[in-house]
Amino acid sequence: MMHPALALAAPSRQSAILIVDDAPDSLGLLQDIMREQGYQTFVATSGKRALDIATRVQPDLILLDVILPDLDGLEICRRLKRQPDTAHIPVIFVSSCGETDDIVAGFDTGAADYIAKPVRLAEVCVRVRAQLRQRSSAESQKQQAERLQSIVDGMDEGLMLVGGDGRVAYANPACERFLDGPATGLAGRPLAELLAAPASQDYAAYFANPDDLDAAKRCRGTREVLLPQGDGSVHAMDLSLSPMAGGEALFVALLHDITHHKQSETALQRAALVDPLTRIANRRHFDAFMDKEWARAIRSGQPLSLIVCDVDHFKGYNDSLGHAAGDACLQAIAEALQSHAMRPTDLAARYGGEEFVILLADTAEDAAARLGEAARAHVERLAIPNPRAATSGVVTVSVGVASIVPTLFDDVRSFFVAADRAMYEAKARGRNRVVTVQAGTPWDGGRGVQPH
Ligand code: GH3
Ligand code: MG
Ligand code: MG
Repeated sequence: MMHPALALAAPSRQSAILIVDDAPDSLGLLQDIMREQGYQTFVATSGKRALDIATRVQPDLILLDVILPDLDGLEICRRLKRQPDTAHIPVIFVSSCGETDDIVAGFDTGAADYIAKPVRLAEVCVRVRAQLRQRSSAESQKQQAERLQSIVDGMDEGLMLVGGDGRVAYANPACERFLDGPATGLAGRPLAELLAAPASQDYAAYFANPDDLDAAKRCRGTREVLLPQGDGSVHAMDLSLSPMAGGEALFVALLHDITHHKQSETALQRAALVDPLTRIANRRHFDAFMDKEWARAIRSGQPLSLIVCDVDHFKGYNDSLGHAAGDACLQAIAEALQSHAMRPTDLAARYGGEEFVILLADTAEDAAARLGEAARAHVERLAIPNPRAATSGVVTVSVGVASIVPTLFDDVRSFFVAADRAMYEAKARGRNRVVTVQAGTPWDGGRGVQPH
């Protein structure tokens, strides 16, 4: 009756076995039984031939006799283990030298197993199967490791392993791009050292004392950090730090580049503050700027001036030359007015359809009147023909200027009202002129500014 071990099916992929034996009977027997088990077999009766076949066919396992006519089995095994392309092939000695010393010598050469002759076929089968199974699981582990490595190497995200002491234990190649240097050079460096303040202090504090709940709150999970670059710039990144499962204190740190998000965020923020037609500040931007400067003027006691400009007879301009020409005209006027808001604390904006404003911080009525007049004259000098302008043949603006040294008792809205009133007064007086008022005092009709 066949022994149950012999009846077991062989592994699904046909494994290749090299049988090395100089005794024909023993060789034939082993070959038969291996074939019966479903293995592909190769045979060699000398050491040299065995080495040759092993190198060329890369068998999955070698059954190796110890005593051979040329090289002995121990030497063959040593050579196989020295050659990189055969080192991984498990070798099972099948030998009539069954003393303990022989067995020890066999294992010393790197053999996987040792079977004493005369062989029991069932034993050979289970030992072969056990080695093949072990080899296939080692190989699949190796494949998995290689696959993981190639994923980690090809990742766009930077991946680092950080020890419990806060030092980088491993960094993938993407880290080179983000950290401005070879990833291998990062090993051993404290993570905190790679970051700009304030993150650098937070991470240093966290790794110095992981029980510090405040520091943990700031450093665990995902947070935005800045990475200083060699050229003095910084790189905006999301850094995710999470502890790895298992006993060892080890963290996975992922770096995700958010520069382009930042850029589009800034672009969006900028777009929200700019008038799309004239490319100067819009009303929203102006209102926010005004609130800030108003509060600052209250604190500093410095004067603040507001210039309001409205295009004269602009409806007629549109009606006679068309809306597109009207748009181009507004662009030219915006550019002209913008050139009079020169200091960082000045801001020109398009406040409505054909109405523009300029806020001048730290500027009193006289200086503001001069600026208002310069702006008016600039628009007139553009000499854009306006066929319907009753007062002048060209496009002009009427300008109202209000000035104030605001206190907590003043209201920013009445400052606007004062400037608007002055502008309407300029219209009423014949357009293309400047009228100034002191806001925060009763309306006194305003003062006309003489053209230079
Ligand atoms: P006044 O001298 O009294 O200011 O007369 P006006 O014609 O300028 O005043 P009104 O307020 O009656 O007309 C303003 C015109 O501005 C009406 C509108 O068609 C035009 N306008 C407003 N915004 C735009 C714009 O974005 N593009 C163009 N082309 N025209 C605009
Ligand atoms: Mg107008
Ligand atoms: Mg108007």
